[in-house]
Amino acid sequence: TEQSVANIGVVGLAVMGSNLARNLASREGNKVAVFNRTWERTETLINDHPEAGFVAAKDYEEFAASLSKPRTAIIMVQAGRGTDAVIEELTKVFEPGDIIVDGGNANFHDTIRREQSIRETGIHFVGTGISGGEEGALNGPSIMPGGSVESYKTLGPILESIAARADDGEPCVTHVGTDGAGHFVKMVHNGIEYADMQLIAEAYDLIRRGTGKTPAEIADVFDEWNKGDLESYLIEITAQVLRQTDASTGQPLVDVILDAAGAKGTGAWTVQNALDLGIPVSGIAEAVFARSLSSKAEQRAAAVEALPGPDSENWKPSDPDAFIEDVRQALYASKIIAYSQGFDEIIAGAEQYDWDIKKGDIAKIWRAGCIIRARFLGRITEAYQNDADLVALVLAPYFRDAVTGAQGAWRRVVVSAAEAGIPSPAFSSSLAYYDGLRAKRLPAALVQGQRDFFGAHTYKRVDKDGIFHTLWSGDR
Ligand code: NAP
Repeated sequence: TEQSVANIGVVGLAVMGSNLARNLASREGNKVAVFNRTWERTETLINDHPEAGFVAAKDYEEFAASLSKPRTAIIMVQAGRGTDAVIEELTKVFEPGDIIVDGGNANFHDTIRREQSIRETGIHFVGTGISGGEEGALNGPSIMPGGSVESYKTLGPILESIAARADDGEPCVTHVGTDGAGHFVKMVHNGIEYADMQLIAEAYDLIRRGTGKTPAEIADVFDEWNKGDLESYLIEITAQVLRQTDASTGQPLVDVILDAAGAKGTGAWTVQNALDLGIPVSGIAEAVFARSLSSKAEQRAAAVEALPGPDSENWKPSDPDAFIEDVRQALYASKIIAYSQGFDEIIAGAEQYDWDIKKGDIAKIWRAGCIIRARFLGRITEAYQNDADLVALVLAPYFRDAVTGAQGAWRRVVVSAAEAGIPSPAFSSSLAYYDGLRAKRLPAALVQGQRDFFGAHTYKRVDKDGIFHTLWSGDR
């Protein structure tokens, strides 16, 4: 066998790993070693893609021997136990200075733990978020590596060679921060993705039930939206999904797909972490809960009969085109809120876990390759370039103008949805967040009074410093 000729290796050759390996092999200067626990997968890959010139290893020793030093290997296996098993094997055959990259969807807490335990061996462990699905892995994903600054010197150029490129030619990869920072940012990316998808779904539902347009007609609406501020991968594929006809029934495919949304957990992680950090990511949370609700088949079947809607259930907007434009603006405003909340979580996470995360750079590497890629992200980069210490994304001049400009439409849509009995949890909660944020006084004062009453939790005053407790009269 060939010895030490590969500059990069991939372990785990299911769909993501094989595509990433092929992507690596297609770039000038890369020679790729491949290994999979079950040999058949490796065999299939090398037979199907002789042009890639893979160096195929039958075991971990052979894999390590085929890599030049410092050895660099990307793990693309089942997150969790699979990842731990591969790490254990690799640390046996790798040496200090070598680099193990986990490109799976790991929980960032696991990444922090793994990095800590591997650090003792002198081997670098780099948890890396990779977004873009199968297609992105093959043609250019958005890559979010964590790990040590030192490891990025070797790894950076390799990742830059395979990353998606934004319109200005910049590769969509940056060293996000140390240890779990990459997987953390990937997690929030996925949370924002949940919110984005839910908002689009609500827009579709409102238009369909409000105007009676067919899915194919609504696809045209989304195509139109995709020419403006909302231009994004998710809007683009939404139009394609809506236009699809089911081969066996001739119906719109969306009408024969069971309306129970699945989830693999990254959205829930984003919300769990936000709860830990005390960051209101209400848009993301509503999106996660909307998926949960959709899957409660028994409750829904019972409620369809038991819980009537409003009298205006057959509500129709007087001007359908004006209503569609209102929905577009409500979608844009709500989307800005979801991103603003997501970036708040990134900022809070960076502080909590001591990561030097450059917010503008995160928006930059999301401009292409990943699922939430959008024209919009250039605006976020600009916002942080103009003001690195921006208090909230929604307060950046461009976004502030967009949201305040849309608020009339936004309110009309939320009112219509409530009156018609069409669920719009993400639209409504984003508007509630907007109103909460801008409120001069919040009823939190009353909550503080209640807390002090029953638990002597104390409160602060608006007119003088200090901590106060009232001796409430009445029965305690
Ligand atoms: P997968 O179905 O998640 O995992 C299958 C692969 O894991 C196979 O190569 C399998 O080897 C290997 N594996 C499982 N347990 C193992 C163990 N104990 N030891 C060694 N190998 C083990 O594969 P995938 O769909 O290609 O996904 C790979 C990773 O990418 C996952 O972490 C997934 O969450 C992530 N992912 C990311 C995206 C994205 O958009 N970024 C999309 C999909 C998946 P055998 O062939 O021997 O069974």
